[in-house]
Formats: sequence, C-alpha cells, structure tokens
Amino acid sequence: MINKTLIAGLIAALLGPLAGAQPFELDTTPKPMTRQRADRLLLRPDISGPVKSLIPGEGPMSVDTLDTGNPLIKIVLFGDNTWKYVKDGDVLSQEDYFNEYWNERADAYEMDYSLLPPKVTLWLIDQSSEYCCPYRTKVYSKFGIRRGRRHQGVDLPLSVGTPVMAAFDGKVRIAKYVRGYGNLVVIRHPNGLETFYGHLSKILVTRDEWVTAGQQVGLGGSTGRSTGPHLHFESRYRGYAFDPQWLIDFETGTLRHGVFNLKKKYLSSSSRYVPESEDVEEEILIAEGEEREEAARRAAEEAAMRYHTIRSGDTLGGIARKYGTTVNQLCKWNNITPKTTLRIGRKIRVH
Ligand SMILES: [Zn+2]
Repeated sequence: MINKTLIAGLIAALLGPLAGAQPFELDTTPKPMTRQRADRLLLRPDISGPVKSLIPGEGPMSVDTLDTGNPLIKIVLFGDNTWKYVKDGDVLSQEDYFNEYWNERADAYEMDYSLLPPKVTLWLIDQSSEYCCPYRTKVYSKFGIRRGRRHQGVDLPLSVGTPVMAAFDGKVRIAKYVRGYGNLVVIRHPNGLETFYGHLSKILVTRDEWVTAGQQVGLGGSTGRSTGPHLHFESRYRGYAFDPQWLIDFETGTLRHGVFNLKKKYLSSSSRYVPESEDVEEEILIAEGEEREEAARRAAEEAAMRYHTIRSGDTLGGIARKYGTTVNQLCKWNNITPKTTLRIGRKIRVH
C-alpha cells in the first residue's frame, strides 16, 4: 500500500498540475531492471485471507490510462489520485487459451477425466484483476447429486430483473439460450476457470466480448428448466464442474482465497464443499505463500520484458543487433520462426 501511494505520488508529480490532461509514457527503452522499475511494474499480490466483493458502480472515476512496457498491462489513474493496474482485455483475448476449445458447447473441452492434473493452482485475483460476488444470498440448492440427478452448480434465489455480475475478468464464450439452462452466459477467465450464469431473463453481453469483474452479464430470471426465479451458477475447469462454494461464500459475498488449490477429486458431482479444518487452512496458507513468491518472480520477469514495435524495413537480424540479442532468441521469445512475416505495428519481445 505504501509503495502504491508513493508511486501514485510520483506519477502525479510527473504529470504536474494538469494531471490527466497530458500524455505520459513510461520509458520502454531496454535498460537494466532496478528495484524502482520493478516496483512500478510488478504485480505484487497481496491476497491472503478472504477477499471482499467489489461493489459495482462505487469508487472513483478513471481519468486516464497509461502504458507500461508490457502491452498486456496498463495503469489506470483515478480522479482521487489513486491508480491500479489493469490487463488489456483486447490484447489478452488474443491469447491461445481464449481461442482454443472455443465453441458454444457447455463443455468446450470434452476431455477425458484421466487427462486432468491431480492438482492445479488457480490465481483467482491479483494486483491487476478483481473479484465480485455474482449475487449475494444464501445457497438454496447445493452442488452434487439431487434426486438422482447431477446438479452441476448452486442455485441462488433472486427476483426477476436483478443484476447478475461477472465474478472475474474474462471473455464471453456463450451468450445465448441453451436447453435446460435457459438464457446462459459462460465466461472463460485467464486462469482457465469458467463460470456459468443460467436461467437469466435477459443477457447483457455478447459472445467474444471481454468483461471485467463486477460488470453486469444479465438479469436474473427463470428461463429454461426452472421452477422459480434463481441464478444457477457453475464453476468449471476443463469442462468439469466443481462446487462453487469452494471459491465463494455466497452468504457473505466473499471470495474464500486469492489463490485456490483445485484438487482433481473436487471435479466430480459427488464431491461437495466442506469447510476446511485448521490443518487444511494451514496447508493452504503455506501453499499460498509459495505461490506468492513464485508469482512475484514471474511478475518481475514479465516486468523486465521489453518490446519493439515493428516498423517498415525491420528485419529480425536488424532488431537482434539493435537490442544486443540473437535471431534465435527473438524466435524463442515470440514463438516465431526466422521466416515469419513481420507485420508492421506488431509488438515483439526483445528482452
Ligand atoms: Zn441449478
């Protein structure tokens, strides 16, 4: 928090009295990483314990957006001199994991259970992304086997027309009427998790749209196989549903952990959420600590990346010389070959 304040002050000082009116760009020429530079770009996670839901519509107005050296991450400045990192959804949604297994089936993957990893660590939020409770209430009908049928999510009673919010940032994979689900919105999030919002009376997003946590995805309703107005909410990983109560305490609206260790055994309709014992809590805290360190390392590495925008006449050889690297290394960093056509305007990683 102290660092944030300091940096906000620094940015404000650089902007001068006309804060927000003048364009300001961070210097993106290659240079060694310093602590100060890392602090500016580092996505320092600070996410131990339950995470409060944001309240849509509250908070200061944004006044400007600044570039960082990394095209995925921008800095948004607010009128009250605070700021935050945000991911650029347009850039992020071009990534492979938002384009592979990208169809309109409820289970886009149809993956064999044997191929799922024994455990996967999911970052639910970090410094550049937030969380919002889709709808806060007591769970009316739980996840699991119900009257001999699999119930793949939780049912949250609400009245018709109540706004339903996206839990996390992500890209809309389904936004249409689906048998059983009624009007359904499915969002895929950057960590691979998907969330489902069913029985809506109205859908407020479109397929392939980038949404941010807290954005209204639809209005509550009773469409599809439903006996009264409620939100059917699912969380899935690689097509397999698990009890959303592992993630969210719907009664208080809080996210249970910033980092979630999803175990393979949860990915079954016979596995219901059980409150963790103190031992398990401890295990989670240790895992979170390790994950935080790993994420800090990754973020520092990401922050140290430098990019070059392709101009007319650029060649890989020329770019390699300019930035003191090799064509081979450029190819590796950018997942290209020496024969790849360099599209003008494309950003490639050079450090
Ligand atoms: Zn349901």
